Amino acid sequence: MTAALLCWAFVAFASNPAHAFTISSAAHSPQHRPQHIVARTKLHATMGQGIAVNPLLADVKLSKTIEVFATVKEMEAEGIDVTSLCVGEPDFPPPRAVLDATIQAVEGGETRYTAVTGTAQLRAAIAEDLRGRKGLDYKDTEILVSNGAKQSVYQGVLAFCGPGDEVLIPAPFWPSYPEMVALTGAKPVIVPTTIEDGFLVDPAKLEGYINDNTKLMIFCNPSNPTGAVHSKGLQEGIAEVMKRHPQIAILSDEIYERLVYNDENPHVSFASIEGMYDRTMTVNGFSKAYAMTGMRLGYMAAPAKLLKPCVTIQSQLTSCAGSLSQAGGLAALTKVTETEMESNVKIMKEKRDYVVKRLSNISGLKYFVPDGAFYILPDVSAWFGGDDTEFCLALLKEKALALVPGSSFGADGTVRLSYATSIEELTVAMDKLEAFMEEKR
Ligand code: PMP
Repeated sequence: MTAALLCWAFVAFASNPAHAFTISSAAHSPQHRPQHIVARTKLHATMGQGIAVNPLLADVKLSKTIEVFATVKEMEAEGIDVTSLCVGEPDFPPPRAVLDATIQAVEGGETRYTAVTGTAQLRAAIAEDLRGRKGLDYKDTEILVSNGAKQSVYQGVLAFCGPGDEVLIPAPFWPSYPEMVALTGAKPVIVPTTIEDGFLVDPAKLEGYINDNTKLMIFCNPSNPTGAVHSKGLQEGIAEVMKRHPQIAILSDEIYERLVYNDENPHVSFASIEGMYDRTMTVNGFSKAYAMTGMRLGYMAAPAKLLKPCVTIQSQLTSCAGSLSQAGGLAALTKVTETEMESNVKIMKEKRDYVVKRLSNISGLKYFVPDGAFYILPDVSAWFGGDDTEFCLALLKEKALALVPGSSFGADGTVRLSYATSIEELTVAMDKLEAFMEEKR
């Protein structure tokens, strides 16, 4: 239940912010954000209400999913046990080696600031891991360890984008991307994909969203919330488009790269695509692969010219990632066996297969079988007139099952299920979902 609450809190506060307004207006109106900010500032000046928030934030609206969150709270107060498929974290604990190394770091007094960029040992281990598994050749000095991939993404956006700039974000997207872009004063430009195309970016269509102001593309592969994995060939197609627009940097968020299930479609890092290394910031972390979500540890790997401004930002924001977490992260990369990693992937794949099998029993439901991450985004637009928030609210009230409305991810008419939970919980959830969708059809 706590997990459900946290999840809805996250969605309510982190999901749309500038979005409901910014995305639609930014995408369809010629009005530029700086003018909008000016207008907001004037409004504040004339309101005479004392302390005005930063105009960048004044644009931010609470997500409509707050309604669902409020309902979860009411139900909890009544003692109802809500089944939740909305958490974005693995249900398995961090590997024993990670916990042991963290405890040892506590006992050994590793409680001081580290270098801004992270401990030398951890940076070397990350560089080695990227070389061995991803074929990426970064120097140790081209690694910036952070307090989570989320921080790395924001620093990457802030380092290169500001008012007047545009940032390509394929949809469905992780809700923080447009939010972070809006917080820099730049404009999120949403590039839609369809369930029919497996939620994959079409390079030919991508080009239509690029102009001289385009500074960055945020590329999430494997994707949260769709689980789509872009093949090497498809990424080469995207790279061809990028080559025609040399002013665009790419931030490749690969935090789910360890969780892939189709041997014929393995994860390939965008920076390893011919011609892309020099302009790509590779972001990854320990939250999903090693279940270290609360330890807050991630990193960016990038050529020095891209990494340096991110180091500058981090030096002024957080100084460094937690020293104890860095000790745990070092053990994750140097002590956890491939066998243990593969066993986690196998278990997650069994869960994916179970959920897909259950969804296939619901007639009229469209879905795309994800090759990675631990989410699936079925299209429920044939229910509740396509209103995914109404769908989720009714599901929560009538069956005590919490899912996340797809509109939070720029995917109206869909719902996101996270299958990173026990098979027992998944069975209860899928029984509830199936019964609900049959009743409401
Ligand atoms: N990127 C994506 C796509 C995510 O889903 C998440 C976590 N939900 C993050 C980044 C942030 O990960 P971290 O815990 O390392 O900050």
